[in-house]
Amino acid sequence: MTGVKNKTAIVTGASSGIGEAIAMHLAEAGANIVLAARRKERLEEIALKIQQKHSVHIKAVETDVTNREKVEQLVAEAKDAFGSVDVFVNNAGVMLLSFLKNDHVDEWEKMVDVNIKGVLFGVHAALPTMLEQESGHIINVSSVAGHEVFPSSSVYSATKYAVRALSMGMEKELSKTGVRVTNISPGAVSTELTEHITDEEVIENFKNRKMTPLEPGDIARAVTYAVSQPDYVNVNEVIVRPSQAK
Ligand code: NDP
Repeated sequence: MTGVKNKTAIVTGASSGIGEAIAMHLAEAGANIVLAARRKERLEEIALKIQQKHSVHIKAVETDVTNREKVEQLVAEAKDAFGSVDVFVNNAGVMLLSFLKNDHVDEWEKMVDVNIKGVLFGVHAALPTMLEQESGHIINVSSVAGHEVFPSSSVYSATKYAVRALSMGMEKELSKTGVRVTNISPGAVSTELTEHITDEEVIENFKNRKMTPLEPGDIARAVTYAVSQPDYVNVNEVIVRPSQAK
């Protein structure tokens, strides 16, 4: 599979930020897009926006990635609509940063559910079809927090290290099957991600952060790069940091 023209790309977490940008960029590359997230209205708006710019087919499927049946249904609907599942972007995620001493246990659980189980359900739902097709590309969105741990990122980092571990394992297990795997590790990107943080100490620390973050499109270009390579090229890991991060 070289390039994504007329291929089917499913993007989770497509209702905002990085997922929305990935969907737009893959549509620009000619893929038919299936947008997945919980906020159906936002998905419909984004579908319309993409449709106005690119003449590809778009479908919006309301999906909670923590619900295994819903993710199975997402892949089934994509296959019914467009006939194949060629790219599956496991992008949905939450970053509820907190200090362990502040005991935000419900948020730990939510991050494990969305960031790890959500990715596993995506693999569970999409991989059998890709193996059958002997072609496909799974993109997992991890984070630089999946490479290093910061104060308050212990649990978030644990989930993103897990995503990277899955990517590394899949890349080895799936070599020679025609299914490629790319782990994308963004640094700080300007999105809604930080708006859900409730730990006051973390919120306070964020106020003092001085850095120009990346834009969602900067990550989307990395995804487009990975899926545009010739069949024999497997881009396993891309790390994109703001240039002022270090
Ligand atoms: P956003 O908050 O803008 O987007 C998160 C997306 O995930 C939304 O579309 C949201 O949709 C979706 N989502 C959350 N929970 C669920 C769920 N249970 N089921 C389905 N979809 C869900 O943040 P980003 O775009 O920044 O985040 C995208 C990914 O990038 C995440 O995995 C994040 O960890 C990762 N990342 C982001 C960085 C950053 O600095 N922004 C840095 C490194 C990694 P909805 O609420 O409609 O369900």
